[in-house]
Amino acid sequence: MLSATTMTPKERYLAGILGKPVDRTPVGSPTSVATVEQMVLTGAFFPTVHLDGLAMARLGAGAYEILGYDAIMPVFSVTQEAAALGCEVDWGTIDSMPVVRTHPWSDPDRVRVPEDFLERPPIRAVLDAIRILRGTYGGRVAIIGKVMGPWTLSYHLHGLQDFLIETLLEPDKVRAFLDRLQTVPLRFGKAQVAAGADALCLADHATGDLVRGTMYRDFLQPIHREMVQELGCPVVLHICGNTLDRIGYIADAGLPAFHFDSKVDAVDAMRAAGGRMSLVGNVNNTEILLAGTSEAAEQHARHAVESGVRVLAPECAVPLHTPLENLKAIHRAVRHYN
Ligand SMILES: [Zn+2]
Repeated sequence: MLSATTMTPKERYLAGILGKPVDRTPVGSPTSVATVEQMVLTGAFFPTVHLDGLAMARLGAGAYEILGYDAIMPVFSVTQEAAALGCEVDWGTIDSMPVVRTHPWSDPDRVRVPEDFLERPPIRAVLDAIRILRGTYGGRVAIIGKVMGPWTLSYHLHGLQDFLIETLLEPDKVRAFLDRLQTVPLRFGKAQVAAGADALCLADHATGDLVRGTMYRDFLQPIHREMVQELGCPVVLHICGNTLDRIGYIADAGLPAFHFDSKVDAVDAMRAAGGRMSLVGNVNNTEILLAGTSEAAEQHARHAVESGVRVLAPECAVPLHTPLENLKAIHRAVRHYN
């Protein structure tokens, strides 16, 4: 039996990430849920969608039209900004994600955000997609934008290995990169909100697999605190991998919501967040959604809800061959509640 619902998907999703009361647990990811099956159903395919706002909007809308989720987040790649700032990007194929091939900035003094940044094709496509989605669904469905934070941009523009070594040997250089690069998500994020985004995903991959929690606290926490203030809209931070040792610091930065990986058990994450922010996620991608059954996906989603996760979603951008049925099963899990 479906329970009676009184909120629109947009009201429900925004209430979920802001920790307000909801009529049922919202479902929807701040990272990509696009799959090859949805490309076929919408007629909008990788890699064209990454640079074509209309196609991007069509594929993004699949999250609502096909999966029944409460939110649409149309930015599938993590390379839009890097491409617009001068990295060579391999845009991939129908079933691969784009990757950054070159890292042009060796020194923070070379960081230049061009005047026409918002007009460059990978950026304009995102703004066009959000505008189109706002026009079609803006009153009913949550439209979520996405920006890369200064940590991720440093991986792309400077190079992951050099950057990580410098966190240990040249912390001032790292601070200079972060400081100069934070203008990119601020400009792009504000432009996405002006185009119609209700909230933003801030993806900034200071993951436990690469750096300690204290690094997050020392380098990124003050920057994220400032960014949340300046963006002035609901922001969901996304960091995948094991983040348990930094969830408390993330909550202290004033982020209203954190999108987290199944490498952190939902019960532990709730304890670390201590009621200070909403948790979003954390259904496992590779073992459950890609390779598991829809029953397993539903069960995993129920564990998250029962542990206190406020918004259900896959843990990160889903693998492109994830079966539709498994993605729909996350949605099915919440019908048994409330
Ligand atoms: Zn991720």
